[in-house]
Amino acid sequence: MRLILLGPPGAGKGTQAQRLVHKHSIVQLSTGEVLRAAVAAQTPIGLKAKDIMASGQLVPDEIVIGIISDRLDQPDVKNGFILDGFPRTVPQAEALDELLRHKHLKLDAVIELRVNESALLNRVETRVAEMRARGEEVRVDDTPEVLSKRLSSYRSLTEPLIHYYSERRKLLTVDGMMTIEEVSREINRILAAIGAVEPHGAKEAKAAKKAAAPKRAAQGHRAAARSSGRAVKKAAKAPKKAAKAARKAGKSVSKGASKAAKKSARRVAGAAKARRFGKPKKAAKRVAKKVTKRRAKA
Ligand code: AMP
Repeated sequence: MRLILLGPPGAGKGTQAQRLVHKHSIVQLSTGEVLRAAVAAQTPIGLKAKDIMASGQLVPDEIVIGIISDRLDQPDVKNGFILDGFPRTVPQAEALDELLRHKHLKLDAVIELRVNESALLNRVETRVAEMRARGEEVRVDDTPEVLSKRLSSYRSLTEPLIHYYSERRKLLTVDGMMTIEEVSREINRILAAIGAVEPHGAKEAKAAKKAAAPKRAAQGHRAAARSSGRAVKKAAKAPKKAAKAARKAGKSVSKGASKAAKKSARRVAGAAKARRFGKPKKAAKRVAKKVTKRRAKA
């Protein structure tokens, strides 16, 4: 399973990523974590990134793309990964597409955690208080001033990714305002629904089936509409051929077992049949008229 978690700072990406890591035995790739480690170790990248991060700005694309490219080459990502905090700009997303294509890897989904901005400051304050209580070092960028800068860079540079991935049919949005437990459950439910993970337990399996059902029906209906459209066009040209095509459409759809799909296929088959049998009727009427005229003349 290969996922991206998208959302503003404080949306809960890190928390949800860790839960997914435990549940599905995949790795979390967090550019923020890698950069903080680089800053702590005072590596050349860390030295470049230190002030940028402390001010709430984004580190240059080429640095984070390089980090992800190296990371994707390591053996522990084989089982799957969650990208947390990457990509953050459209050029980063394009670079990721290229990297994945090159490595023959396919992204399963991008999960957007949608949150109410006014709640974010509270969340970050809670995170800081919890870290202090655990005796952990508090992040330098977890202050109200820096948070507002991080939020504004999210809005202008990262939010366009919602459109980017939605256009590519990868985006799944989850209400990030629910409790941690509820958000996790919802993420697992939609992952099961798209077939990215096996549903765990009867409840999840049932929810996944329910979530997938309308999609399957719609797909079946669309497929039927497409093939029935083709059949109708053919019917206008050659009734016999069209009847055959329509019957064929009816057969393939009945395999999909969608009621709506079957109905539209039946309609097309009926229309084609009517044309097939309708023409001789008209022809017979025309002949009858001619005969009446001839009789009248005689
Ligand atoms: P995070 O832990 O994801 O909140 O990231 C902390 C900081 O690291 C961000 O405010 C940025 O300065 C930097 N950073 C992390 N990921 C990226 C990225 N993909 N692109 C640019 N800068 C990043």
